[in-house]
Amino acid sequence: MKALVKRRAEPGLWLEEIPEPQIGINDVLIRVDRTGVCGTDLHIHAWDAWAQRTIPVPLVVGHEFVGEVVALGTNVHDFQVGDVVSGEGHVVCGHCRNCMAGRRHLCAHTAGIGVNRPGAFAEFIALPQANVWHHDHGIDRDVAAIFDPLGNAVHTALSFKVLAEDVLITGAGPIGCMAAAVARHAGARHVVVTDINPWRLDLARRLGATRVVDARHESLDAVQKELGMREGFDVGLEMSGNGTAFRDLVANMCHGGKIALLGIPSGQIEIDWTSVIFNMLTIKGIYGRRIFETWYQMSVMLRNGLDIAPVITHRLPFQEYEEAFRLMTSGETGKIVLHWR
Ligand code: NAD
Ligand code: ZN
Repeated sequence: MKALVKRRAEPGLWLEEIPEPQIGINDVLIRVDRTGVCGTDLHIHAWDAWAQRTIPVPLVVGHEFVGEVVALGTNVHDFQVGDVVSGEGHVVCGHCRNCMAGRRHLCAHTAGIGVNRPGAFAEFIALPQANVWHHDHGIDRDVAAIFDPLGNAVHTALSFKVLAEDVLITGAGPIGCMAAAVARHAGARHVVVTDINPWRLDLARRLGATRVVDARHESLDAVQKELGMREGFDVGLEMSGNGTAFRDLVANMCHGGKIALLGIPSGQIEIDWTSVIFNMLTIKGIYGRRIFETWYQMSVMLRNGLDIAPVITHRLPFQEYEEAFRLMTSGETGKIVLHWR
């Protein structure tokens, strides 16, 4: 089969012909139809410090995908050939305390597809049946391909109650933009999104942000006044990984405000901890998705009118993966979906 392989410990990805994966008795073999390109893939392509200490070479990369079941292990009874499925990219150990308690998203020994084990940028991927999600009829295929990052957005945006609340999202990357759509869908009042990239702010507006803020030129304090807000944001979603954005967010929360942190900083970040203490803020780290509660929520919201399709700004055949990475580094993309068939 054809696959995008991190073949050598240096920048680049290589389109290669490699053997199809074998399945064990509990596995499902999936023919990949479409894949989403993630910032993680960009890090692996660029071979930055994180990638160098994380990625075993050689490795098939990629973790956002949709495809069709083509073969089943003898122990698999809940799926059928032809089912349209995606995969939860975190393969958990099944034995740690959290796994045993059913809190699989908190597994202490999780392995990521396309990061620690073979990924989805290939014509086929084999996954344990416990990681396979059967899509509802009528879910758009390109949207199905990005359930993984949509899940990050949903997991973060629904970590705290947003109904009737004022929500501040820092970072209008694809995930911040999708989180804006989710917060609106879930009944938030103001959904304010900040970025330093006007193109991305425009995308956030298209996804349903009620006010976008170029953090280079506008202060959140002034925006609060303009909106008639007096006590700060009720819920903050950090989705940039940027220290200045995080400090701005902390400074603009109401007393008792709730902050969910998804953005991954490249180093340590200093914040004003006295605001956290005196304003009694709650800060919660978010990793991945709830397995499979977030998947259920995504499916239900999409059927109930949540529209995140505008976040997909580019569709390319998989052979043009280098162009996809080039476009992503321009900063003028939402999600890019690669078509494999
Ligand atoms: P992205 O890099 O496309 O988006 C980040 C955005 O933040 C960019 O648009 C950038 O311009 C903006 N930004 C930079 N400085 C800013 C500032 N000072 N103020 C406001 N915005 C600023 O990333 P993405 O794919 O949308 O993902 C969002 C974040 O979530 C990334 O940090 C990513 O690494 C992280 N992530 C975490 C998980 C997890 O499980 N915790 C999963 C996926 C992604
Ligand atoms: Zn575990």
